[in-house]
Amino acid sequence: MIFCGNPGMAYRAHRAEIDEAVRRVLASGRYVLGPEVSEFEKSFAAYLGTEHAVGVGSGTDALFLALRACGIGRGDEVITVAHTASATVAAIVMSGATPVFADIEPDGFTLDARGLPALLTDRTKAVVPVHLYGQPADMAPILAFAKEHGLRVIEDCAQSAGADYAGRKAGTWGDIGCFSFYPTKNLGAYGDGGLAATRDPVLAERLRRLRQYGWDESRVSREAGVNSRLDELQAAILRVKLRFLDVDNAMRIAHADCYEQTLAGAGLALPARRAGRTHVFHLYVVRSRQQQALLAHLQAHGIQALAHYPVPAHLQPACRLYAPGAGTLAQTERAAKEVVSLPIYPELEAAQQRQVVDAVRSFKAGHD
Ligand SMILES: *Cc1c(COP(=O)(O)O)cnc(C)c1O
Repeated sequence: MIFCGNPGMAYRAHRAEIDEAVRRVLASGRYVLGPEVSEFEKSFAAYLGTEHAVGVGSGTDALFLALRACGIGRGDEVITVAHTASATVAAIVMSGATPVFADIEPDGFTLDARGLPALLTDRTKAVVPVHLYGQPADMAPILAFAKEHGLRVIEDCAQSAGADYAGRKAGTWGDIGCFSFYPTKNLGAYGDGGLAATRDPVLAERLRRLRQYGWDESRVSREAGVNSRLDELQAAILRVKLRFLDVDNAMRIAHADCYEQTLAGAGLALPARRAGRTHVFHLYVVRSRQQQALLAHLQAHGIQALAHYPVPAHLQPACRLYAPGAGTLAQTERAAKEVVSLPIYPELEAAQQRQVVDAVRSFKAGHD
């Protein structure tokens, strides 16, 4: 089976260094919020080109704590997309705020800023664009809209670690950038982990408090916080893996180049790459009018292909209290019926990729 993503391969590629990092932490006696976490936070902030990075328990928690740090909660509305991982919406619901769904661009997979004015109410407090599949959303019109209406912008960068928008890293454009280190992500740990990055010292301080019971330096709870900490083992592993992030992303992009050349004319819409934005291909997502048949065909040929995401957030039972019904987010609903993710990860071999391409081509041959 050729998997859609394959995090075990990265461990085997860097085994000696990762094992050494794990042994160092186990022997150190410090396991939570110690030197590995602060060193990783420093390196990641420098990598992004921002001031502060706060390691937390997961990407979902990073989004949740970012909303909390901005003072967003019950009674507030947060605009995001329905074409995203469940986590984006779960984090907004956890904060107490109500998610409000914008449609995606017709020829892309990220928030269509043209839909924002119609969603604005006097309760709107923030916009959460999602840099889905590894390509940043079009931040310029989103930031302009937010500025005009005094809204916070919290970027969901779970799938876009290392991507640039207009020459600066995704996650440094809004008030807070939220990252996930879930094992399959471009920068993956070997358990859960996340991080919130910001230029604003006040937000950074608030994030640090909220991740640990609302504590100040004297361990007095200044406000209601939670327990959401990045642990030393994951941080030590991430320090190793951060050094390879750009090389890994370059390999993903090379595989995408190869798909682009070899899948031309195979009856699929291939992912668009926008000028001025890097696409770091967390996923390689094509569109097909015969999504279900193509998924089954690939599966039968030993290829794990998945639809990210088959049910948009506004049509999930958990969202029925606040979401608009079917037919309201046309581009989102169209994407859900067409998307197929082909295998992509840095260590994907040329022969495996050829096998994927052959399988896609044989599907077209059978359906022409
Ligand atoms: C993975 C992911 C998250 C959440 O990350 P976890 O670390 O799994 O909580 C949030 N948003 C998007 C778009 C994701 O892909």
